[in-house]
Amino acid sequence: NDIEMATKNLEIYYGKNLAMQNADIQFKKNTITALIGPSGSGKSTYLRSLNRMNDGVATVKGQILYEGVNINQPGIDVYEVRRRIGMVFQRPNPFAKSIYDNVTFALQRRGVHDKKILDEVVETTLKQAAVWDQVKDSLHKSAQSLSGGQAQRVCIARALAVKPDVLLLDEPASALDPVSTSKLEQTLRELKPNYTIIIVTHNMQQAARLSDYTVFFNLGEAIEYNKTRKIFTRP
Ligand code: ADP
Ligand code: ADP
Repeated sequence: NDIEMATKNLEIYYGKNLAMQNADIQFKKNTITALIGPSGSGKSTYLRSLNRMNDGVATVKGQILYEGVNINQPGIDVYEVRRRIGMVFQRPNPFAKSIYDNVTFALQRRGVHDKKILDEVVETTLKQAAVWDQVKDSLHKSAQSLSGGQAQRVCIARALAVKPDVLLLDEPASALDPVSTSKLEQTLRELKPNYTIIIVTHNMQQAARLSDYTVFFNLGEAIEYNKTRKIFTRP
């Protein structure tokens, strides 16, 4: 089965307001799917539901399938869900800690303290995020002193450190300059063979350049969902 995630009969409410419906979408393994649509159309709301990030903020009804299991039901270990389905936010949000401790934060919290293991994770994930060469001599400096592009890459490394299957990104390039943006896109292309990537972007060209599938949201519904090349090549 090549479907990593899917949503079915999803309804998301903020209080009594229905913010999302009609979003039956499937995400294939090792693809990049772009979620596009106007501001307020529900892209973030939908993305956050995929790893239960809007627990306590919104009421989510319906099925969220991860590897065929509905993770939107009682008894599901939400921390495990968030380990397997990682999130990168719009603004780089490194913790006020060293680069090293940022990347290893979740592992250390899980009781991994073996320096050899942590060193290896730091090097591997910073290389995957294509920022190793720039930071390898300053791993013990604060991550908050980095440039926006580098900080965002460290945040990607931090998400990768717990070996997720799915990477959710909420407008990860909107605070970045064009050069950092294009490097970030290249990084995502390189990650694709090992991850399922779902990215919210307000940038249509970015969706067209980067994604295999595109979902177009409007007024809290997924009104179009198709191969990106079909969506972006209209007569
Ligand atoms: P987008 O990501 O496409 O800009 P959002 O998912 O942020 O859209 O918002 C979709 C709708 O849900 C908007 O009407 C927004 O005001 C509302 N909304 C988003 N977050 C909340 C929240 N925490 N509480 C109440 N309403 C919210
Ligand atoms: P974006 O367009 O990038 O989603 P917003 O400025 O719409 O950013 O939202 C920023 C934060 O405020 C998000 O956490 C979102 O969930 C929350 N939010 C958005 N709309 C509302 C709302 N109507 N009521 C309460 N919180 C909201």
